[in-house]
Amino acid sequence: MYTYYVSVGSNIGNRKKYITTAFQSLQKHEGIYSVLSSSLLETEPWGYTEQPVFINAVWQVISTLEPHTMLKVLQQLEQEAERERTIHWGPRTLDLDIIYALQSDGSCVVYDDPTLQLPHPYFWERLFVLQPLQELVPQFTYEGETIGNRIAYLAMHR
Ligand code: ADP
Ligand code: MG
Repeated sequence: MYTYYVSVGSNIGNRKKYITTAFQSLQKHEGIYSVLSSSLLETEPWGYTEQPVFINAVWQVISTLEPHTMLKVLQQLEQEAERERTIHWGPRTLDLDIIYALQSDGSCVVYDDPTLQLPHPYFWERLFVLQPLQELVPQFTYEGETIGNRIAYLAMHR
C-alpha cells in the first residue's frame, strides 16, 4: 500500500468541474482505496505568468498501485479533461503531479528517471503545493524542516 500526495492544478475553462470530475473518477478506479482532497485554492500563475488564475489543491491517495501505474492513471485523467500539452508551465485544463509518496513502512519513495521523479523536484519551492499539503498533513516535514517553517519562509521571499 502506498500513500500518494498529488498536486492538482487547473486554469482553463470550468476549473472546478475538471477537478471534481477527475476526483470522482479516481475514487472509483480499481486499486484506489481512498482519495481525500484539501480545499481548493485560487493562486496566481507561476513560471509562465501571462495566463489565467489557477485553482490548486492537493489530494491524498491511498492505493495499492505502483508509482508508475499511478502516474499513468493520473495522465489518463488529464487526457479525459481534454488537456492539450502546448506551452510548458502554460495554461492547462488539468495538471496532476505526484509530489510525494510513502510506502506502508513510512519510508519516502524515491525515483529519478525521466518519466517519474519523486519527490517532485519543485514541490518544496511552491506555496500553491505546500499550503494545501499543510491542510492535509499539518505535521509534514521534509529534510528536517517543518512545512510550517517552509511556508513562512517562502511567503517572506516571494
Ligand atoms: P509539468 O507538470 O511540469 O507542468 P507535464 O504535466 O506536461 O509538465 O509533465 C511532463 C512530464 O513530467 C510527464 O510526461 C511525466 O512523465 C513527467 N514527470 C516526472 N516526474 C513526475 C511526477 N512526480 N509527477 C508527474 N509527472 C512527472
Ligand atoms: Mg504535470
